[in-house]
Amino acid sequence: MIPNLNHQENIKQDTFSFIKALSESDYSGEIAKSYASRLAAATDNSVYQCLPQAVIFPKSTQDIVAICQLAQSAEFEDIRFSPRGGGTGTNGQSLTNDIVLDLSKYMNNVLEINAEEGWVRVQTGVVKDQLNEYLKPHGLFFSPDLSTSNRATIGGMISNDASGQGSLIYGKTSDHVLALTSVLIDGSVLESKPLTALDLIDQVERQDSIGAIYRQVIDTCETQLQNIEDTFPKLNRFLTGYDLKHVYDHETGTVDLTRILCGAEGSLAFITEATLHVQPIPTYRTLFNIKYDSFQSALQNAPFLVKANALSVETVDSKVLNLAKQDIVWHSVKDLISDVPGQVLDGINIVEFAEADETIQQQKIDALIVMLDGLIENKQAGVIGYQICSDLADINRIYGMRKKAVGLLGKADSRAKPIAFAEDTCVPPENLAEYIIEFRQLLDDKGLHYGMFGHVDAGVLHVRPALDLCDPEQEKLMREISDKVVALTAKYKGLMWGEHGKGFRSEYGPDFFGNELFTELRKIKTVFDPHNRVNPGKICTPIDSTESLVSVDAAKRGTFDRQIPIQVRESYAQALDCNGNGLCFNYDTKSPMCPSVKVTRDRVHSPKGRAGLMREWLRQLANNDIDILQLESDLYAGKNASIFTKFKNTLAKRGGEYDFSHEVMEAMQGCLACKACSSQCPIQVDVPTFRSRFIHLYHDRYLRPVKDYFIAYVEQYAPLMGKMPRFFNFFTGLKVTSALTEKVVGMVDIPQLSSPTLKTALQDNDIVEFDLGKLQALSKEEREQYVLVVQDPFTTFYDADVVRDLFLTIKKLGFKPVLLPFKPNGKPQHIKGFLTKFAKTAEDSAAFLNQMAALDIAMVGTDPAMVLCYRDEYKQALGEKRGEFNVQLFQEWLKPRLSGEAKTSQNSHFYLLGHCTEKTAEPTSGNDWATIFSHFGGTLSNVAVGCCGMAGTYGHDAGKLADSKAIYSLSWEAEIAKHDRAQCLATGYSCRSQVKRIEGETLKHPVQALLTLL
Ligand SMILES: Cc1cc2nc3c(=O)[nH]c(=O)nc-3n(C[C@H](O)[C@H](O)[C@H](O)COP(=O)(O)OP(=O)(O)OC[C@H]3O[C@@H](n4cnc5c(N)ncnc54)[C@H](O)[C@@H]3O)c2cc1C
Ligand code: SF4
Ligand code: SF4
Repeated sequence: MIPNLNHQENIKQDTFSFIKALSESDYSGEIAKSYASRLAAATDNSVYQCLPQAVIFPKSTQDIVAICQLAQSAEFEDIRFSPRGGGTGTNGQSLTNDIVLDLSKYMNNVLEINAEEGWVRVQTGVVKDQLNEYLKPHGLFFSPDLSTSNRATIGGMISNDASGQGSLIYGKTSDHVLALTSVLIDGSVLESKPLTALDLIDQVERQDSIGAIYRQVIDTCETQLQNIEDTFPKLNRFLTGYDLKHVYDHETGTVDLTRILCGAEGSLAFITEATLHVQPIPTYRTLFNIKYDSFQSALQNAPFLVKANALSVETVDSKVLNLAKQDIVWHSVKDLISDVPGQVLDGINIVEFAEADETIQQQKIDALIVMLDGLIENKQAGVIGYQICSDLADINRIYGMRKKAVGLLGKADSRAKPIAFAEDTCVPPENLAEYIIEFRQLLDDKGLHYGMFGHVDAGVLHVRPALDLCDPEQEKLMREISDKVVALTAKYKGLMWGEHGKGFRSEYGPDFFGNELFTELRKIKTVFDPHNRVNPGKICTPIDSTESLVSVDAAKRGTFDRQIPIQVRESYAQALDCNGNGLCFNYDTKSPMCPSVKVTRDRVHSPKGRAGLMREWLRQLANNDIDILQLESDLYAGKNASIFTKFKNTLAKRGGEYDFSHEVMEAMQGCLACKACSSQCPIQVDVPTFRSRFIHLYHDRYLRPVKDYFIAYVEQYAPLMGKMPRFFNFFTGLKVTSALTEKVVGMVDIPQLSSPTLKTALQDNDIVEFDLGKLQALSKEEREQYVLVVQDPFTTFYDADVVRDLFLTIKKLGFKPVLLPFKPNGKPQHIKGFLTKFAKTAEDSAAFLNQMAALDIAMVGTDPAMVLCYRDEYKQALGEKRGEFNVQLFQEWLKPRLSGEAKTSQNSHFYLLGHCTEKTAEPTSGNDWATIFSHFGGTLSNVAVGCCGMAGTYGHDAGKLADSKAIYSLSWEAEIAKHDRAQCLATGYSCRSQVKRIEGETLKHPVQALLTLL
């Protein structure tokens, strides 16, 4: 049995008093001090790990003023704060052992727009893609781009001075910041924008911290003019430290403090609002995907492409391309980057042209085509082919793949994982090819694996060498390579931190700047933050401070993970491998990725949050000398804790006894087990799998709630109740029964059983009975005419019309459907972590289905979640013993059998709202249905929706009802309202029941719509 894990990293006394005082003040935001919340903010996408004391989520500028004013009190003078946005930094910029101030949860509103003047004012917790979605109807966009655009905040972009594709034309974030509102640590509010010499007089004369800031900045810029000119690199990625090069215009005397705040990595002030320049969305866009025989050819050809006046040139190597090919994302782009017959495709350049004038655009395109055709014909420059796309959706798909590729670089099957520490170096583009040769040599000499791609137009290279930081020797190697890359970039007149900021690489700052200039940076830090309380250790310390800068040698995730035995790490790789890139925070409500974090906006309830908790849980068990793998096999062998022990432990839990496992359990209970993470996360962090294992172990120590049994045994009681549906429906329909079920079991809106039953419905339709002997006696040709329909408890007993219509459809298509006897699938047991029982159910069902598979007759199931369970959870539970049986979804079975002329009339139009597990695990399913409908004379559009909020039984859990409905309203509600309900289709039983309960109307399964077309 797992032990009670009562060890917590306690909160320091002064922090404790501070958050108590804050909660009693006018502060209106949220304060999180649970161990789980602190762990969720302990990592970003870097290799580092720092446990904060608490996480506070302000709701307004005024809240931050309140925080800073309270922090001025003498008893709180040691308290420090680090601002945080999306937490996607690659070098630990937002990590701290003090208090995290997270602006992303509540301060995420667009405040004002002036489309005519081309600006927008936002709170800095707004996500970049969220802003562009807001701007789109105005024909505008915020141009600095970055791979993490669906979760990085404007505050993080400003503070890291983010940029990416298109930066040569569009520039960096700092080029588009018109004004900022920031709160200084002393509680004063700094409104910054460019001030002319005349405007400056008042500011310089102020006797407060703001006056001191202006005086210091002007003094530094005036006295260090030549030094700044000589030291700051002449690169597109110019920024390093505080932007002394652009803060002061020596000719006009204009000072713009926003330039100092941009790129300051949150080390000067808390930026709460930003006025940003926005520009018209280009009317004409065209992308060339140019293919090369090697990465080196692609790199060497890049400057040539830049000269073709392209908006951007991005290079991707074969390693990254191959990673993308193995990911779900490839389905969306495979036709746009097809292989070249007879040639090896080992690198691509993605070249974009974007213009407002169609003629100019066409001239540029034509010129490049002539150039590329010439290179191919003469077998020059390693160009082996190219493809052009001008469709916006296609262009977005290519960039979607490119953006995801950065995350995919973090994926690896070995213990060594690609990590960020020298992943954004920048050298002058003309030095890039030479520099890469030396960089590769450095990595090759150490025998390291790595993939590369980059914004070659700006000389930025993304590389993540694979290292196992659980191995202390490899941690040392990271330091060694780090130092060598710093030297190498210096040799090629570049920077180690070309795009992602410095963070824990701040220790290299003094050498880069030299003593004199670095002292000036420290003076600037001093006037903003004299006591080193704002993101301490990043970039520089105040002039009188004796504290150190953060360093590459700081505690890393590996420092903690190495405490977990290797076998456990490997067995729980689905959790341990999370690298914190934050893709699971995708703000887009139409993406299936993690409904639980979308609805709660609580990062504990994200795949990353859950994976982090699991890592810590395994670490604590290891530190308690618990062999978790042995415990699991004991459970499978039936060695459970006694009921008495569980009862005693549950009583202690009710009495308030702390156990870290309860915090983990709470996070796991918020998961809908939709499985979007297991396919959408670039690392394929699979929460439902480790969640079930955790629940299994947890309930060996603590008693289960009644509802777990109610859910897990649905496949046992539904067939019995389904024999007398009217009788049971009468009782479940009574108000008193609903009230009792809610109170005693904790379940709501229990669905009604199908009446008439499936059996009756099929009897009326002349269906072939299942008879194994007769099926075995069929000839090979005859078997091809048959289809075995695999039952699941939900459609068979609660939605029998769908199964009946499936039969009718199969018959109309000229085949003979046969209903297989009902066999429990086990998915409900798996969800509730009854893993010993699930293993048994899976074994029995697999044995039966393998027997059926031996008939060599196609098997088809109706509900996607249940069918996909045979492919995924069965494989995990049974391994080789699963056998080779294959249950197909209807569209998978039918599509390859489509034959003959397609019907031409296309009068009936349908909208498919796909099941999220199906869409993510089988990404072609929506298109397969569209092909089938079009063959039979209908049309079908796939509607972009996220999760419906039901997810099996989650929506029936009384405690989750509000979240379930809120998830529905994120994307389903509006889409359902947009279309005629009779034309809306849903493949998932859960989705149909959610629509029924909320809208009072039942959606059809696509098979039912298809039947009307036949
Ligand atoms: C896979 C991957 C790809 C990436 N690709 C790119 C890329 O193409 N281009 C690029 O530029 N970057 C890239 N990054 C780095 C990172 O995503 C960006 O720098 C991003 O702008 C950080 O935003 P965030 O909201 O996540 O900030 P966080 O990581 O939360 O914070 C970043 C810094 O900003 C500070 N900060 C945050 N909000 C505020 C505020 N309101 N006031 C003051 N300080 C604040 C923090 O203290 C911290 O120092 C990538 C990261 C990953 C994981
Ligand atoms: S769970 Fe996946 S997507 Fe989320 S942070 Fe971890 S690796 Fe990234
Ligand atoms: S299964 Fe779904 S709800 Fe659970 S963590 Fe993964 S994406 Fe989030």
